[in-house]
Amino acid sequence: MFLPLSHHSDLVDPSPDANPLQASLRFLTGVGAARAALLEKLELRTVEDVLWRLPRDVLDLTQVKSPTDLVEGELQTVRGVVAETDGRETRKGTLVATLLDCGDDFVRGLWFNAPWIRPKLQPGTRWLFSGKPKKKDGRWEFSHPRLQLLSEEDDEAHGGVVTRYGLTEGLRQYEMKRVVHAAVEHGVDAIADPLPEEFSKSNSLIALRTAFRQVHEPKSMAEYEAARRRLLFDDLLEFQVGVALRRRLWGRRSNAPLLPVTAKVDARIRRLFPFQLTNGQNAAIRDIAADLQSGRAMHRLLQADVGAGKTVVAIYAMLTAIAAQHQAVLMAPTELLAMQHWRTIDGFLDGSRVRRGILTGSVTDSKRREIRDQLASGEVDLVVGTQAVIQEGVNFARLGVAVIDEQHKFGVAQRSKFAGQATSAPHVLVMTATPIPRSLCLTQFGDLDLTSVTDLPPGRQKIVTSRVAGATSRRKAWEFIRQRLQQGRQLYVVCPVIDGDEASGRAGATQVFEQLQKEALAGLKIGLVHGQLDRAERDDRMEQFRHGELQAIVATTVIEVGVDVPNATLMAVLDAERFGLSQLHQLRGRIGRGVYQGYCFLFSESNTPEAAARLGALEASSDGFEIAEKDFELRGPGDVLGTRQHGELPLRSADLIRDRDLLEETRTAAMQLVESGRIDTAEFAPLKLEVLDRFAEMMDLPRTG
Ligand code: ADP
Ligand code: MG
Repeated sequence: MFLPLSHHSDLVDPSPDANPLQASLRFLTGVGAARAALLEKLELRTVEDVLWRLPRDVLDLTQVKSPTDLVEGELQTVRGVVAETDGRETRKGTLVATLLDCGDDFVRGLWFNAPWIRPKLQPGTRWLFSGKPKKKDGRWEFSHPRLQLLSEEDDEAHGGVVTRYGLTEGLRQYEMKRVVHAAVEHGVDAIADPLPEEFSKSNSLIALRTAFRQVHEPKSMAEYEAARRRLLFDDLLEFQVGVALRRRLWGRRSNAPLLPVTAKVDARIRRLFPFQLTNGQNAAIRDIAADLQSGRAMHRLLQADVGAGKTVVAIYAMLTAIAAQHQAVLMAPTELLAMQHWRTIDGFLDGSRVRRGILTGSVTDSKRREIRDQLASGEVDLVVGTQAVIQEGVNFARLGVAVIDEQHKFGVAQRSKFAGQATSAPHVLVMTATPIPRSLCLTQFGDLDLTSVTDLPPGRQKIVTSRVAGATSRRKAWEFIRQRLQQGRQLYVVCPVIDGDEASGRAGATQVFEQLQKEALAGLKIGLVHGQLDRAERDDRMEQFRHGELQAIVATTVIEVGVDVPNATLMAVLDAERFGLSQLHQLRGRIGRGVYQGYCFLFSESNTPEAAARLGALEASSDGFEIAEKDFELRGPGDVLGTRQHGELPLRSADLIRDRDLLEETRTAAMQLVESGRIDTAEFAPLKLEVLDRFAEMMDLPRTG
């Protein structure tokens, strides 16, 4: 008879040589096609995947007491089944009381003015109550205890530490645990510990196999914690070693062009700007100048709040290259931004002999061919463009400096593309206006040297930011805006989506545009800009706005980064709670670039405490770094960077916020391993191999050397 695999009595792998860690879950006892499909939904495919999926939480049942052993006033836990629950009105309000059957005795739970608790405490449900009990009329009472709902399986594991995993519909906790157990049995012995014993000891780490057993089947909280520490440490250490190796790789590229910054060059560049550079800009330029004349390729992240004047710094770096007979390129994430950079740069260079061009997707074929030829022959010194500048067929004769604006909008590996295009390694400057929280910086950009510009050009005023909720303040806000528009100022209206949703009443740019024309902004010249319009039309409208032919632009976040229209001093963000904090800060950076006071209105009818906290943070702070930290805490790394895809870090279990301390600790350890060269010794070969297996592709690391 044919037996389905799941009925095999043992843990079978069809080919005995295969690595048990890579075995498909189908080959585990108790996993058939249906269950495998459910596990797949949790992104669990192999035994190794399951081993690294740490419990979502744990219940410490080791300390559960019997009611007879309770002591007055100390924090203690009891476990039992609800016998009955009732609620009644008292003089002081609602009182919910429940009687919990703990086996040998009952305890009482009491809640004042918390009527919602009542329906949860159904008779027959199992709970842990934690709190400081008091004895009243011969019975222990817990007032507002901490509650943890137990399932029947939790209850089977008496006394121990109970692990609980993230599930998906159709997969029950005990089923998941069976899979985990089978994976531990099947896989753990195949685990090779990549860390030398002495290294583990000095970092207070337990053995890896032990860690896997203990994290999934702990006998005590201490075991569980030690196991978690070891696994998260490895997860982060390997990532950090990858980052450190990448950093070393860049540092070793010693064939970078020498681009000296002489006093004469410096003076010639500064003469182009009609203003004094800020201290921050000067400090950034000093860092960059040192890199450019070091003979080693610069690999620097320039981080500065919106409006801090990064473009000037970029121009300085590029002109240094050109002064030394090299070429320079600036790559921006969108056509719009490339055009804007082009205009700025072209403006500053007016009357100079720098031969320059623009290369984007919308440049005609023949023009593109011409620019490519000129880049290859060295007839063009400076090119501004979109990703078109790193496409196949673009070759530079003598690329000296590459500047990448808003790198996080590109893929992580893209910045190394320039390296492959030149005979010698170019200097790379990455710029971002998204203040990147330190812990993210340590990971995604950890291979870059960091320069932060923290001051703004003089004369910038703070943008007045206020939240708008309710019909009255909405009306007032629009009146205020209308008045300013009539005085000649300009307005951005930002909507979270292009098309709204009737049912939820969500603002969509298309509907808002029509409505504003009819109502609040009737008679004024308004334009609509969003990502579904074709590019020419979009650019056209922006151009009209720039020239003042449009008084207001209704847009989606296409205007998020870098758009620079100094006369636009008003902004209305609709459904503001739907944006990330940093994103709102970026948006707000679009206004208040000129001489007039900027006003930003955050429209939001949301009542959630989270929305209040976030919008409140924006009203209170104009410091992008502070806001980014807050945002990061509230929404996680993906959203801070604006794109989930690039924000998602390839970590197994670690969490950048929760595990911040470990992140720092592993960074130090990784740097020491790489800088001392120990990572290249036989002792650490297994670790290095593991690092390359996980990150070689993503970080563009060579497999050898
Ligand atoms: P960022 O890209 O950092 O947001 P920009 O480079 O676009 O900022 O500069 C913002 C504005 O400030 C531009 O109009 C620019 O000309 C101006 N600017 C830059 N540096 C200075 C300075 N040192 N003094 C006065 N204005 C400056
Ligand atoms: Mg900019």
